[in-house]
Amino acid sequence: MRRIIASLMLLMLTLATAGLCAGPVAATDALIPAGLQLTVTMTVSADSTISYSWNSDGALQFVLRDQAMNNLRTGSGTIGSGLYTVDNGGVYTLVWTNLNAGPVEIEYDVEVINLGAGFFDELGDAIILGMLIVLAVIVIIVVVVVLVVVRGKKKEPQAMTGPGAGIVPPMGNNCGVCGTPIDHSMAFCAKCGAKLR
Ligand SMILES: [Zn+2]
Repeated sequence: MRRIIASLMLLMLTLATAGLCAGPVAATDALIPAGLQLTVTMTVSADSTISYSWNSDGALQFVLRDQAMNNLRTGSGTIGSGLYTVDNGGVYTLVWTNLNAGPVEIEYDVEVINLGAGFFDELGDAIILGMLIVLAVIVIIVVVVVLVVVRGKKKEPQAMTGPGAGIVPPMGNNCGVCGTPIDHSMAFCAKCGAKLR
């Protein structure tokens, strides 16, 4: 029983973790040779927000540019993130430049978020999903606790010692264990040997 509870706990923990992590985040890995750049180009519609983040094993120079080569966001270092809401739709470019003497490994994530009704719908769905997971976990815990308590109580009579221990009351004129018809004067069932009185 204890092993089953432990397994259930582990399962719930796994589900909860999966629920929390289940987002649209899908980081991409890349290697930028010394002196070179990583360029990500995307076409974005008006009023969308570009969300970007990176971490790397060497410092990088970062810039987000629009079609007219205006620098909208800049940064540098081994880690960075930001948001930029686009006024006009068009092609936007994110560039990471490696000015180090050796190659740099980068893990980056670039997403376009539409801050319209869709975004809030998704946010609402995520909150409802989170609440359902929490509710399910609570229900499972309550069921497990109730089962443990009920089983614990049922086992008590069998745990008795001394006179009367291990008696299986007959079911009418039949053995309570194997169902064989019994004589009430018998102390044990003739077939299975269950203690009758
Ligand atoms: Zn029997």
